[in-house]
Amino acid sequence: MNSIMVTGGAGYIGSHVVQQLRERGERVVVIDNLTSGFRDAVRDAELVVGDVGDRLLVERVLTEHKVNAVLHFAAHTVVPESVRDPLKYYGNNTCNTRSLLASCAATGVRRLLFSSTAAVYGMPASGIADEDTPLQPINPYGMSKLMSETMLRDLGAAGAMDYVILRYFNVAGCDPHGRIGQSTPNATLLLKVACEHAVGKRPSLSIFGTDYDTPDGTGIRDYIHVEDLAAAHLRALDHLRADGESLTLNCGYGHGYSVREVIDAVQRVSGAALNVIEQPRRAGDPPMLIAHADRLRQRLGWEPRHDNLDFIVRTAMDWERKLAAQTSP
Ligand code: UDP
Repeated sequence: MNSIMVTGGAGYIGSHVVQQLRERGERVVVIDNLTSGFRDAVRDAELVVGDVGDRLLVERVLTEHKVNAVLHFAAHTVVPESVRDPLKYYGNNTCNTRSLLASCAATGVRRLLFSSTAAVYGMPASGIADEDTPLQPINPYGMSKLMSETMLRDLGAAGAMDYVILRYFNVAGCDPHGRIGQSTPNATLLLKVACEHAVGKRPSLSIFGTDYDTPDGTGIRDYIHVEDLAAAHLRALDHLRADGESLTLNCGYGHGYSVREVIDAVQRVSGAALNVIEQPRRAGDPPMLIAHADRLRQRLGWEPRHDNLDFIVRTAMDWERKLAAQTSP
């Protein structure tokens, strides 16, 4: 029987996808160098600790496990860090993807799902991006992902690879059963930071920008529950297995919430009164970024199951409480 190789399967999104794959009985092998992933996040699959750019290792895993599809999540994902250290991002995200693609070619793997990002759109004027919106990343993280997308499109055109590129908007929430979650240290993402503050790990929470041209002056994003995002990957895999054509798909719900709405939800769900500090805008933040996400529904028959901000927050809070209980003396 063939296996699926998941790169970055010990990370936040990858581990949720691995869990869903295993729940439906797929054979899965994870490769992760554990620089930002966690061994414990891989609960029910073989974990190979190593680098996606290590061709010898990757090709051995692909061959020994009879892999016929790769799901590629391994990447650095912190936008401000990518601005400070672009080569780290081009090295790990772009060059290592190139190496992985070469390993796929060398071992006959022709199906790949790629974890991309709304950051490839940069700051679209309307605040709503469909898949044909111009690709104008404004930071090295977004560019490193776009360069990988470009390689995939070129390989597809050459008839060498079938792929689905999934462009994530703001992924949030955790496994509703609390088995895995988002454990990233030094988090910068709004919901994670807010939950850390709610459990007392941080003294306050900043709002970056209260003077945007939005109804309450704060930034608006399209938050998608990680379980819905993971389900989209399983459908994308099925699509490729059924010899479907290569696709590029936005992953979001098609509507957004402001920073204040997210903070209100965290206060509601956690019962904590948050200490909120209003700060100036953060460089490079668009006022609004929402997915036009019809293509995902139309092409893969995907429907969201958790399109509910309080549910997203509840699952994130439950995980944060679990982490806090583990680390408290
Ligand atoms: N944000 C904020 N305080 C924080 C982190 C984020 O006000 O501590 C805002 C940010 O300006 C943006 C939204 O929350 O409007 C989502 O930011 P995040 O970093 O979570 O994701 P991004 O959309 O930048 O990928």
